[in-house]
Amino acid sequence: MVLKYKDMGLNLNNIKNDVQRLTCSVHDKHPTITIVGSNLNFECCCEKFKEICLEKSKKAFGNEIQKSVTESFGKVFKKLK
Ligand SMILES: [Zn+2]
Repeated sequence: MVLKYKDMGLNLNNIKNDVQRLTCSVHDKHPTITIVGSNLNFECCCEKFKEICLEKSKKAFGNEIQKSVTESFGKVFKKLK
């Protein structure tokens, strides 16, 4: 499974760490995640766990996007002052 997205200055390591904390309830394994360029490669023990990891990574991406947007707005507002 590969997640592709355009580089938005997101901290991929935060996303990676977030998802890597998950444990498969069936196989008691963590996903293996590697950062390749601006993509995240997922290796999961089973399809079901892969879906869970995907859901979690969507949330993690959402959090990171929100953070980077908030930071960008912060910079803009500072300039306006
Ligand atoms: Zn599994």
